[in-house]
Amino acid sequence: MDSTSYQSAVADLSEASEAYRTGITVSPMSDAEYDALLAEITDYEQSNPSDAIDHALHTVGEGTSGDTPHAAPMLSLEKVHSTGAASAWVSKAKAAAGRFGDRVVVEPKLDGIAVAATYEDGRLVRVVTRGNGIAGEDVTDRLGDVLGLPLTCDIGDNEVRGEIVFNSDQFAVANRLRVAAGKEMFANRRNGVAGTVRKDAPGAERPEMSFYAYGATGKVSDTPGYTNDMRSLDALGFNPVYTAPEFQTTNLTPGGLDGELAHIEQMRTMPVPFVEMDGAVIKMDDERAREALGEGNRHPRWAVALKFAAEEVTTTLLDIEVSVGRTGLHALRGRVAPVEVAGVTVEYATLHNPSDLIERDVRPGDTVIVRRAGDVIPEIVRHTERPADSRPWIMPSECIACGSELDQTSKRWKCENDECVGGSAALLAYACGRDALDIEGAGQSTVEALLAHGLLNGIDGLATLTVSDVARLPGFGISSARSLIDEIAKAKSQPLARLVIALGIPMTGRSMSRTLAQHFGTMDALLAASTDDLQTVAAVGDRRAEVIHRALRRLHPTIVTLAEQGWNMTDESYGQTPLDTSGGPLGGLKVVVSGKVPGLSRAEAQELVVRLGGETSGSVSKTTSVLVSGEGAGGKFGKAKALGVRIESPEWLLALADG
Ligand SMILES: [Zn+2]
Repeated sequence: MDSTSYQSAVADLSEASEAYRTGITVSPMSDAEYDALLAEITDYEQSNPSDAIDHALHTVGEGTSGDTPHAAPMLSLEKVHSTGAASAWVSKAKAAAGRFGDRVVVEPKLDGIAVAATYEDGRLVRVVTRGNGIAGEDVTDRLGDVLGLPLTCDIGDNEVRGEIVFNSDQFAVANRLRVAAGKEMFANRRNGVAGTVRKDAPGAERPEMSFYAYGATGKVSDTPGYTNDMRSLDALGFNPVYTAPEFQTTNLTPGGLDGELAHIEQMRTMPVPFVEMDGAVIKMDDERAREALGEGNRHPRWAVALKFAAEEVTTTLLDIEVSVGRTGLHALRGRVAPVEVAGVTVEYATLHNPSDLIERDVRPGDTVIVRRAGDVIPEIVRHTERPADSRPWIMPSECIACGSELDQTSKRWKCENDECVGGSAALLAYACGRDALDIEGAGQSTVEALLAHGLLNGIDGLATLTVSDVARLPGFGISSARSLIDEIAKAKSQPLARLVIALGIPMTGRSMSRTLAQHFGTMDALLAASTDDLQTVAAVGDRRAEVIHRALRRLHPTIVTLAEQGWNMTDESYGQTPLDTSGGPLGGLKVVVSGKVPGLSRAEAQELVVRLGGETSGSVSKTTSVLVSGEGAGGKFGKAKALGVRIESPEWLLALADG
């Protein structure tokens, strides 16, 4: 991997990760591909720390990461994928635990968000997500009623751990609230939980959820042992997985391995329509067995998770659709005859990428196997039958957005035009997104629906949408349509920088768009800039200046329309904090922000630096004045240290802002 392929890998993976996180669009790559690419990125960053760019790929995973440290690490469980492997694990663990190892518990593995609930003097004071295991996100204030998680109980000072999930009724209510708030529905329950406890989740109304306990860090029972602890938690008002009647986790089997395996088999077929279960957890009951086995860095050695094989169904492939992301990456999805897989009605299933499709030779009209594993978006596995007159499906050989050649040298086909800004849906969703115009309710699927109904074909069509237009879309009513229109009206006064981001100028991400807005101060000045003028902006070389210049000429008519519609075309900080200045407390300083700044998104932290007169940069070099190093700063900290760059805390930055 070289510097260029590293940067494009980060962009591709960020897009895939966003698709995964929101659960709304289909990821352009399979889980295995994602993991392999992430490993390559990590390797590259370790050997080339100076090239590392800011991205959130290392913090996604459990849905949320955060900065609230856990008193004791919340380790994840080691996973096995067959009952054979589980059985081997059990024999080995029993042998290692000696006479304390005869009691093994088998429980369902629930697919939600793992949290630690801290009690002080019997009062629930804090709920923190697992995050990366060392620190998670404090979501206490973002929870509504959580069944099985008492606000007060006779537990003294303790920490109870478990899983927050939606059951089917709760999930239906949560999606109704989403739609009422003008948001897209959650694709599955696990993403629903993650989305509901997110910082920017809409609305004061928090849907009810359920908590199932599976551990406590302090003492809860006079008689030691996991099952005794769980019975005590049950008596205190919790709903442990072990005692919950819905899971029938009753037959703890002392002795024979056969009993445990039979129990797993039974669990495999257990109908639990009310909650998502994606496997079984096998753990030692006796705490002395747990002590004997101990814990590794990442996993405890006294427990293991058996992931059930994915559920598969057969349906008909109706059509194959191509979509293109903002980075020019082409993804395929199959539209299938609606079919229920693992409790969810599936209408689309991913085919991942063209080379996958060619390998599997799947064609419209085929009878196909669709598989859904855990929270993974369903995928088409292979065909089983096909009509006699079927023909292979032909992948377009040109970019569906701009008509340029497609680079087919890697598995993921990508537009060769590096000025390609992707399809209009991807670009519009990007324009309406949180880092750009921040229009709540205008996510990917809403944008797609607006395009499909011919109500919108560009960013300059947003302001002319009407309540009755939007109300006709599936999932919308009058009131949610009105709130979307209100949001659009509000977005018109967003800072110029956000409008520049929304234009999706090639080779110009968030940070460069902000710099351009601040440098030129008005859209008119930006439009009037020559390539030479553009090159006076830091980090704009002749190639980039050329591309930006050409894009602005192409966008000129759109920008004129936007101006007529009353969008804000001036940067309010222009003139107040001149760029080269000594005006603000950070005047003349080149500042790199890395890691978390409490209470601010990355974009907001960078905006703050600029407001304070500083210049932001994505990577640490000899010319960096200050590194603001927050939790999770990673390689940049070491690099700054090695170069003797001044290092400050996020608190220092926040204190400057206070005055
Ligand atoms: Zn293209």
